[in-house]
Parts: sequence; C-alpha cells; structure tokens
Amino acid sequence: MTSTAGPRPVRAPRGSELSALGWQQEAALRMLQNNLDPEVAEHPDELVVYGGTGKAARDWTSFDAMLRTLRTLRGDETMLVQSGRPVGVMTTHEWAPRVLIANSNLVGDWANWEEFRRLEQLGLTMYGQMTAGSWIYIGTQGILQGTYETFAAVAAKKFGGTLAGTITLTAGLGGMGGAQPLAVTMNDGVAVVVECDPSRIARRIEHGYLDVRAENAADALRLAVEARDARRPLSIGLLGNAAEVLPRMLADGAPIDIVTDQTSAHDPLAYLPAGVDFADMAAYAAEKPADFTLRARESMAAHVAAMVGFQDAGAEVFDYGNSLRGEAQLAGYARAFDFPGFVPAYIRPLFCEGKGPFRWAALSGDPADIAATDRALLDLFPENASLARWLKLAGERVHYQGLPARICWLGYGERAAAGERFNDMVAAGELAAPLVLGRDHLDCGSVASPYRETEAMRDGSDAIADWPMLNAMLNVASGATWVSLHHGGGVGMGRSLHAGQVTVADGTALAGEKLRRVLTNDPGTGVIRHVDAGYPEAEAVAADRGVRIPMREG
Ligand code: NAD
Repeated sequence: MTSTAGPRPVRAPRGSELSALGWQQEAALRMLQNNLDPEVAEHPDELVVYGGTGKAARDWTSFDAMLRTLRTLRGDETMLVQSGRPVGVMTTHEWAPRVLIANSNLVGDWANWEEFRRLEQLGLTMYGQMTAGSWIYIGTQGILQGTYETFAAVAAKKFGGTLAGTITLTAGLGGMGGAQPLAVTMNDGVAVVVECDPSRIARRIEHGYLDVRAENAADALRLAVEARDARRPLSIGLLGNAAEVLPRMLADGAPIDIVTDQTSAHDPLAYLPAGVDFADMAAYAAEKPADFTLRARESMAAHVAAMVGFQDAGAEVFDYGNSLRGEAQLAGYARAFDFPGFVPAYIRPLFCEGKGPFRWAALSGDPADIAATDRALLDLFPENASLARWLKLAGERVHYQGLPARICWLGYGERAAAGERFNDMVAAGELAAPLVLGRDHLDCGSVASPYRETEAMRDGSDAIADWPMLNAMLNVASGATWVSLHHGGGVGMGRSLHAGQVTVADGTALAGEKLRRVLTNDPGTGVIRHVDAGYPEAEAVAADRGVRIPMREG
C-alpha cells in the first residue's frame, strides 16, 4: 500500500457511509483524524493536538499506518498502539476493544523529561498528553465546562455565587487555557489573560472564546475596571509574558480578585522565560534545552511569587493543574505551595459522586445530532438546573471545532442512563449516524496525579497509581471500544499516570450492553477510589446507588 507520509490537512469523514469494516473501527478512524483537524489541533502539521506537545500519532508514517490498519481491522481484532505507532494486530473477540493504546510510559526511575526527550529523539516514543494520544479531544469546549464549573465554585465560595464585579487575572490561551476567558464571562466576571503568542489571542477571538485584545497592560486594566464597575462580563487578551506582567501588576497594586494560570508550565521547554522574545523561543529551546529550562524555572518562580503576593493581598489564588508550583519549587521558591490546586479546592466533591468530564461526538458531523442529544439530556434529568444552564449556554456560545461534540459533567448512574438513551436514539434513526462517548483522563477514578487530581487525598494516597491501572483494565473488561493508559499528561513526566476510554453507540443491542457496563463501571472506579480514601460523600453515593465495596461488607 502506498504511503502519503507528510504534513497535510486532515479531516474526519462525515455521514453514515462506512470506510472501515464496522462502526467501532470507523469511530477510531474518524476520531484519530478529528484530533488532527486544523480546527481542532493546535499545531496539526507537527501532529500536536494540545497541551504543549501532546500528539495524536508518533509521526506521519505511523498515522498513515493506523488509518490503513483501522480500515481493514475486523470486528474480532485489536490494534495495539505503542506511543502513537501501531505495533500489532491481534485476534481477540467482539467484546474486546478494537484499539489498545499505551502512551509515554516510562519505568519510574527513568520517568523524567530528559530521558523522555532522548527516547523521543530516537523516534521511540511520543507525548500523548491525555486526550491527544487517545483520540477524544474535542477542542476547547472539552475543558470549557470544567473551567466553567471551577469558576462557578470560586464564585460560590467567595463572591456570593457570581463573578459579576470581579477581575480574574490569568495566563495562557492555548488549547485548554483558551477556555478560561469564556468560562469567566459565562460566570459574569471580567478576565485579563496574558499570552505571549499573538496568534493564540487571535484564534480565541476568532472562535468567540475571547472578547477583545488590549493595547498594553494599562489599557487592559482600564478596560477591566470599567467593565467590573458596570458589572458587565468582558474578557481581555494581553500580549506579554506572565512572568513579567504579574510581578509588575502586583507592584502597581492592580485590583485583582482571582488569580490562576494555564501556561504550559508542565513542560519547562514550553514556558517562555522572562527576557526572551517569543519569536526566539522555539530555536532557543531546541538549541539550549538545559539553559532554557533553568531560565524558564526561574521565571516560573517569579510568576508564582507574584501569585502568592496577590494571595497575601486578599485575592483567591489557585493552581490550575499545570505544575507551575512544582516547577517554581524546583527553582528554589519556598512558598510555591502556599496556594492550593483546583481539585482539592473545588472539584473533589464532584469526583466523590463519580462526576467528571463525560463527552460525546457526532460521527455524522451533523450539529443537529448534538442538539438532539442536548434535548434528550434535559428530558432525562429535568431536575438538574445547573445541567440545564450549561446546555443552554453551550448551545448559544460554543463553536464546534471538528466533529460536533458536547461535554457534560455527569456522575455515577447518570452517564449510563445517557449512554443507553443515546444508543436507543441511534437505533431509532433519530440521529444521522452513531456517536462516540468518552471522557477526559482528568476524571474521578482514572488518574493518579499528586499535583492535580489526587493532590492532598484524605488518606495520603496521592501517588498511588494502582487506580488508573484498575480503571483501564476494568474498561477493557467492560466492553469499551478503545482504552488508553498514559503517563505524564497534564502535569508532565514523572508526575501522573492516567487512563481513558471511548465507547461507540451504534444502535446495536451489543453496543447498548457495552455502554451500560462501561458507563457504570468507569465512574464507579471514581466512587470506590474516594470511598477507599475515606471521603464520606463517596460513601454516601456508594450506599445510595448500590456500589459494592468488599471492605464495607460482612
Ligand atoms: P498550550 O501549549 O496549548 O498553551 C499554553 C499557552 O501558554 C501557549 O499559547 C503559550 O504561548 C503560552 N505561554 C507559554 N509561556 C508563557 C508565558 N511565560 N507567558 C504567557 N503565555 C505563555 O497548552 P494548553 O492545552 O492550553 O494547556 C495549558 C496547561 O494546562 C498545560 O500545562 C496543561 O497540561 C494544563 N492542563 C490543565 C487542565 C485542567 O483541567 N486545568 C487540563 C489539561 C491540561
């Protein structure tokens, strides 16, 4: 078979025609391509989807080989993917996943960026981030609801339930960070977002996630204060380096209420050091990585010191899951962990209920299919006011990137109900083609990440990584269509292990059975993980919804 290796625009096929032997294989084929759609991926020519260097395939030859293999893969076969390259096809059975993925995994003592990069240079591995290498990234919407929920929790905790009349200062307008300005304005607040790459500011404005770009810091603050005083939501992009802008704003006494950050701090080669021009960043990082890392870490220390300064002055400050505090600590800044991560501060109670970033995409490419699923959810959960608010805002404000998709944080029991309803809708011909249902790896039971999802666990089990392994194995045993096990996503090498699953709703009875099991068991691992760690909220959910916990029986 001929190969077309090399960068080119990629777009998933749409419609109800199959180019593979079944919908499970077709779903993987479409979602792999969708991850690299220029509307979806941050740097598609380099196969980079989001999150610094998070890739969907190791190289273009591997990408072509995966497409070729998925087109001919039988319904009782499984393709094995080792860090973005297909390495085998095995005969399995119809309940088995069609694809099994392991990305970026390294043995403990070798699990650092230096060794990872050495192996990457040799062409032996790739960085899979979370949903980049597991083919269920749905553009910035994927993070939007989580970010919206987080800012809603900040509002509830400190500002009487709304961000109206407040100013949030943050940085990073990349694939994930780009959700911040819209999440703040959806909560009626004002956001100033520092970003060093002008093309990212333009992209967020074009996609409707950011309102305006300021001329300079003074202009940004003037616009912000005006909007705050009028209690008018507004998001403002400010071109600059966070390590320089934040200390200056702190020194000037800028009236900031909330501070966080989503630069690519998890990878010191993706964080622009102070005093370096953005135009020189890539060449400098490539030519002098050790020197660059040192300067990036020093800059992160200055950045974090300014955040601590804002906290001392009364602002609500939190780390947004990018390891900024860890890097600042490596640079010798002693107060780096003076402010909390967002999970213990706001998200853990949701994890105890098995809630997390559940999502689905319409393989038809037809936005009407997502509108139909939105209506089905309102019908299924009529009493859930915050879900209704989210679906209304998302319907109005979210611009689809690639295949139309939706994210909703649903919990134990809710996900299975949604999955079965969606499968019935496909069976009844109410949708133009099947759906895929998956989630971020940042979920209740699928990740061990002591600086983020498992920071400050009640029983001190932050670094125990058995849970994501159990989650992945359970999803394989339950009938997921593809399952992935990754290392280093979100917070970087050596700091996380996490798993993902995606399952197809093709309207068959078999898919219905698989969905019921996967969408019950997958969030179920979140409930049991938090019961095991001693959270009473999780105990209540387990008791109420009949989740069996052997150590609580007998
Ligand atoms: P990205 O690489 O797409 O974007 C990062 C942005 O930061 C880039 O646009 C870059 O130009 C900018 N930047 C780098 N250094 C800067 C500096 N000194 N000043 C100003 N801007 C700077 O990454 P992303 O997908 O947006 O993810 C951002 C971070 O959030 C990553 O570390 C990622 O691992 C983490 N993350 C968080 C969550 C969460 O739920 N909170 C989820 C996934 C990822």
